[in-house]
Amino acid sequence: MKDCIAVDGPAGAGKSTIARKVAERLGIIYVDTGAMYRAMGLYFHNLGIDSQDQEGIAGAVDQAEISIEYRDGEQQVILNGENVNGLIRTNEAGNLASAYSKYTPVRKKLVELQQQLAARTPVIMDGRDIGTVVLPDAMLKVYLTASVEIRAKRRYLEYKQKNVETTLEKVEEEVRTRDDQDMHREVSPLMRAEDALLLDASDMTVEQVVDVFVKWYQERKVQQEEGTWK
Ligand code: C5P
Repeated sequence: MKDCIAVDGPAGAGKSTIARKVAERLGIIYVDTGAMYRAMGLYFHNLGIDSQDQEGIAGAVDQAEISIEYRDGEQQVILNGENVNGLIRTNEAGNLASAYSKYTPVRKKLVELQQQLAARTPVIMDGRDIGTVVLPDAMLKVYLTASVEIRAKRRYLEYKQKNVETTLEKVEEEVRTRDDQDMHREVSPLMRAEDALLLDASDMTVEQVVDVFVKWYQERKVQQEEGTWK
């Protein structure tokens, strides 16, 4: 776990785009934990279990078999034998993930899976609780953020590209709601780990952000070798 990078931050900050590129540059594996919560949200939704039904969720969570595979370097989420990658990238799946991810049994199951993955090989993992809960010993922790307006604008442009009908106002409202849910839930709320480096990418290009990550990673490696960092 010591060679891993933990990336946390709010929805739309660019975590997955950045983490994927940093993984390529450093030759490590990218683990997208949001995709696992999205698959879980889909699972409960398909079973007709309401996001307020705590007992129903606790009762059904053990029957959800989630695993990760890599195809051409891309993470695939397998839910009870089915590859659900094509179903989880929608806005609805993101909202479902946010609604069901607040429950302890759901988090416990996925955190275990994430820790097993990181124990096997160096990874860069992104999510909401990676630096605080999943990989507390990560070699580098980054809290990546950007203003609500910028994040909403990026999401809106992504939707437009995919011909999803929506408005900038609606997307901004959704971003605010998701931030609120993720930051104020009781279990593992989104927050910056004490030892996480803060990176506000509002006015930066993707390549600039990737460069900062790689620089920080290399600096940490040197510090580790010199024994000047944990
Ligand atoms: O990152 P992404 O938008 O795919 O995440 C979807 C939702 O899954 C988040 O809004 C959050 O509620 C939940 N999540 C989480 N913990 C993580 C990753 C995602 O609670 N480590």
